Amino acid sequence: MILMNDFKAEPEDLRIAELAAVDRVLHSGWYVLGQEVQAFETEWAARCNISHAIGVGNGMDAIEIGLRALDIGVGDEVITTPMTAFATVLAVIRSGAIPVLADIDTDTALLDLQSVERCITSKTKAVLLVHLYGQVCNMESWLDLCETHGLALLEDCAQSHLAAWNNKVAGGFGRFGAYSFYPTKNLGAIGDAGAMVSNDIELIQRAAILRNYGQKERYYHSELGLNSRLDEIQAALLRVRLDRLEKFTQRRRQIAKIYFEKIANPKIQLLAQPLQTENHVYHLFVIRCAERERLTQHLRSSGIESFIHYPVPVHRQEPCAHLRFGPNGLPAAEQHATTCLSIPCHPQMSDADIAAVIEALNAFK
Ligand SMILES: *Cc1c(COP(=O)(O)O)cnc(C)c1O
Repeated sequence: MILMNDFKAEPEDLRIAELAAVDRVLHSGWYVLGQEVQAFETEWAARCNISHAIGVGNGMDAIEIGLRALDIGVGDEVITTPMTAFATVLAVIRSGAIPVLADIDTDTALLDLQSVERCITSKTKAVLLVHLYGQVCNMESWLDLCETHGLALLEDCAQSHLAAWNNKVAGGFGRFGAYSFYPTKNLGAIGDAGAMVSNDIELIQRAAILRNYGQKERYYHSELGLNSRLDEIQAALLRVRLDRLEKFTQRRRQIAKIYFEKIANPKIQLLAQPLQTENHVYHLFVIRCAERERLTQHLRSSGIESFIHYPVPVHRQEPCAHLRFGPNGLPAAEQHATTCLSIPCHPQMSDADIAAVIEALNAFK
C-alpha cells in the first residue's frame, strides 16, 4: 500500500540519531522545559529567520496562546477560513474570541481577500491566515488589508514549515505564527508539540508565562494561563528531525512537480500551480474530482491510500453551526469540501510509488 505517511520507511540513520537524542534526555534527568527546548526554540527561530520561538504543547495551543498574548478575546472577532483543521477555529473559540468565516479562493483553496474584506466589522481584531496544504502567498496584499483596517495579521503555519514568500518564511509576516509539530506535519515530533514564533519579544515573554499556568517566576502567577509545555524528549527529537527538513521538503516539491507534469485526466483537476518555487512545501497534494468516492475506491484497489482535507467545512460542524460568515455565504469552501482529495506526497515515496500513483490516476475512467 502506498500510504499518505510512511514513518516506518524513514531512513535508519534518522532512527539511530533519534535514539541517541532520547538517551541524552534520559541521562540529563530534566524532562520538561529545559535545555533541549531552549536549543530547539533558538534553532527553529533561526531557520525561520524570525527573532523568537517559544515551544508549546501543540499547534492549537500556539494559536490560543498567541491570541491571549495579544489580548484578543471576549467580544473580539477573528476572521479565518472554514477550510482548515478544526483546531484553527477551536483555538479562536477557546481564547474567548468569535471566529468569523470568510470564503476561499477556488484556485488555491486559501482565504479569499475580498471575502475577508466583506466580513470586517467594528469588532474585528485580526485576520488568521491558514497557509493551507503548505502554501504561503500574496502576503503583501494581506499586510495591506490589515494595515488599512487596523487589524492584526496572524498566521497558522501548521502545514507550512519553511514555506517562503519572496524569501520570507511563513510566520514572519504577521504578529505571530503558530506551528504544529504533530507527527504528520512536515516537521513532526514523535508525539504532540508546537511553537509560536514572533519578532515581538514582549509577545514571546507573555507567551512564555501563559504556557506555564501564567507563572511569572516559580510559584508566582501574574495571570491565568494554560499547561502547554514542550517536553525535552520531543524537543530533542525535533532538533534531530529539523536536520532533515530541508531534504524532505525538496523531495515533496519534486513529487509535486512530477504530479503537475504527468497527471492528465479530464476527470481530475489540479489546484493552481504555486507562483514561486519556495512558497509551497506540499504538506498535502490535493486534487479535485466530481466523482470522488469512486476515485477513492479506484485508488484503494490500486493499492493507494488517500484522505480528504477536509470533508466538512467548519461552519457545517455541529458545534459551529451558529458561527457568522460573509454575506455571500461560503460556496467555494462547500464546493471544495465535496470534491477535494489528498493523494500521497511524502518524502519516503520511491520513484516507483510516484509513477504508480500517476498511472492509477490517469487510468481512472
Ligand atoms: C494540525 C493543524 C493544527 C493543529 O495542530 P495540533 O498540533 O494538532 O494542535 C492547526 N491548524 C492546522 C491548519 C493544522 O493542520
